[in-house]
Amino acid sequence: MCGVFGYVGKSGAAGKIVNGLKRLEYRGYDSWGIAVVKEGEIEVTKKVGAIGDLDVGEWPESHIGVGHTRWATHGGVTEVNAHPHFSTDKSFVLAQNGIVENYQDLKKNLINEDFEFISETDTEVIVRLVEDKLKSVSDLREAVRLAFLDLEGRNTIVVLSSKIDHVIAVRNGSPLVVGVGSGEYFFASDTLSFADKTSRVVFINDGEIVEYKDGEISVFDAESGKKIDFTIEELENLDVDVDKSGYDHFMLKEIVEQKDTVRSAVQYSMKELEPLIGTVKKSSTVYTIGAGTASYEAGQAAYFLRKIAGVKAVELKSYEVDSYRDLFSPNDLIIAYSQSGETADTVEAVEFAISRGAKVASIVNMLGSTLTRISDMPFFVRSGPEICVCSTKAFSAKLSWSLLVSCAIAGKYDEAKKSIYCLSDMLQSYFSDKLFERIRDLSRKLKKSDHAFILGRGQNYYITLESALKIKEISYLHAEGFAGGELKHGVIALIEKGTPVFVLIGKDEEKENIISAAAEVKARGAWLIGVGQVENELFDEFIATPDVGVASCISNVIPFQLVSYFLALELGYDPDKPRNLAKSVTVK
Ligand code: GLU
Repeated sequence: MCGVFGYVGKSGAAGKIVNGLKRLEYRGYDSWGIAVVKEGEIEVTKKVGAIGDLDVGEWPESHIGVGHTRWATHGGVTEVNAHPHFSTDKSFVLAQNGIVENYQDLKKNLINEDFEFISETDTEVIVRLVEDKLKSVSDLREAVRLAFLDLEGRNTIVVLSSKIDHVIAVRNGSPLVVGVGSGEYFFASDTLSFADKTSRVVFINDGEIVEYKDGEISVFDAESGKKIDFTIEELENLDVDVDKSGYDHFMLKEIVEQKDTVRSAVQYSMKELEPLIGTVKKSSTVYTIGAGTASYEAGQAAYFLRKIAGVKAVELKSYEVDSYRDLFSPNDLIIAYSQSGETADTVEAVEFAISRGAKVASIVNMLGSTLTRISDMPFFVRSGPEICVCSTKAFSAKLSWSLLVSCAIAGKYDEAKKSIYCLSDMLQSYFSDKLFERIRDLSRKLKKSDHAFILGRGQNYYITLESALKIKEISYLHAEGFAGGELKHGVIALIEKGTPVFVLIGKDEEKENIISAAAEVKARGAWLIGVGQVENELFDEFIATPDVGVASCISNVIPFQLVSYFLALELGYDPDKPRNLAKSVTVK
C-alpha cells in the first residue's frame, strides 16, 4: 500500500525516484508526488492517477529528492492531498505512509495555535506539528522526532530539507529500508524498489530514525533520541526482475508462473522443517492467521493441519483476533500468512501474540519483510516478485508449502513433495492457448450475469472463497464462495434460471455430497460449471484441473484466476491495477 522513495546521490534524482516509484507501483496507489531540491529550493510535482511514461527531461537537475505514491485514507484523491507536503516556509517537505489515528485532536490544537491547513490529509498534521516543534528546537531531526512521538497509529515518515542535503525518515508500522549504493542512498518502502541499483541494505526497525547528513547515514532511537548502531546487510538472491516477459499483464504472467512457483515453494528439506514440526507437535493450539487472500491460505492450512496431521489448528482473521487475545499463551504457535510480510493487521496480531509469549512462524514472499524479522521461524515461498495487485502465485505457493508441512508432520513428506512436483509438471502443458480461449469464451457468457456462486466442500471449501474473492477483486462481478453444506440453509434462495454456479469436485469423500448440492441447484435452473478432477453429467460445462493426489485442491483455484483475468479484459478493466485496492495493506 502506497510507497516512499527518497534518493541522495550524485545526479539525476528525478529519474531515479521515478524509477523507484514505478518499481513500487505494484503496492497500489491513486496519486503520486515527487520533490527535488535545486539550489536551496524544493520543487514539487504532484498528480492524480498513474505515473505512466513520465519524461523527467524538463525537470531540474538535482541529486536529492523524495517521492511518494499515495493510497488515500484521509481526504479525497486530489493533487492537493497528494504527498509530499510543504512546510509553510517551504524549508522542508514531508511524505507519510500510514494513518495518524489522533489527527483530529492534534489538528484542533494546531488550529488553536493559528496553524493553517490546506489539504484534508492527516499527513499535514505531522507537517504542522514539526513546524510547531521547530519553534522550540532548531534541529530538524529533533523536531521530527518530537512530532513523531506525539503521533498515534502506524506511521512511517520521510522528510526532505531545502537548506542542506538532509533527509530524515522515521519508521513505525509501514516498512522502511535504506539501500546503500556507491555514493548514493535510497530510502524506500521495500528492497525491490532499488534492487536494480544495490543489494546492500539497512533495515530500519519500528521506532527508529534514519538521518542522512554530511554525506553519511546515522540511525537513532526515536524514544530517547540516542544514536544507535546499525548494520549493512548484503542480500543474496534479491529479486530484480519486474517486467512482463512478453505477457500483456503481470496477472497472466504470474498465473502461468505457478507451473514453477509451486515447486519453488516446497524446497525445504525435512531437516529445515524440523524446528517448525517440533513446535507444532508441542503446541496446545496452532493458530493460522492472515488477511484477505492470506486469510484463505490460513484457513486451508488449518484444514490441512487438522485433516492430514491431526493437529488442533484454528484459523483466525488477523483483523478479528480481539476475542482471542487473552487466550494466546506460550504453549501456542502462530503461523502467519502474508505475501508482502508487511500486512498491518497481521503484523499487529503477531506482535500481540509475541507479547503473550506465543511462538511465531511466518510464510511470506518478501525477503527481509517485517513478519520474517519478528518471527521465530520465518519461511519464504520464493515465488519472485508478485506485481499484480491481486495475489495468484503467492497463494498457490503458500498452500503448497502448508501442504508439505502438514504431510511432513504426518510422516508423508515424500508424498506431498511428489504431488506438488507432479502439479508443477502437469501445469507445464496445462497453460495453453486452447485453455485461455475456452476460459475467455466462458467469461464472455459470465459477464452478463449479476452474480456467480462457487460451491465446494472439505479440501475445496477455502478454494471457493479465494476464487470468489479473485472474481470480485479483478472483474467487480459479484461472486460468493460457499460450503456445499451451506446451500440448503439459505443460499439456495438466490438461485434462479441461468444463475452461474461453479462446483468444485475432487476424488474425495465429499464427492457424492457435492454432486447432491449440484443437483439441487440444477433443479432450480442454475447454469452449472464443474471444476476439478471428476466430470459429471449434471455439469453444463466442465473445466478439468490436474489430478495430483493431495495437492489437487491447489490446482482448482487456477481456472478462477483465469476467469477473473479474462472477465476483466472482457469488461474493459486493467487486471493488474484493480480499483480501490492496494497490494501491500500496511494500514489498518
Ligand atoms: N494517510 C495519508 C493520506 O491519506 C497517507 C496514506 C498513504 O499511506 O498513502 O494521505
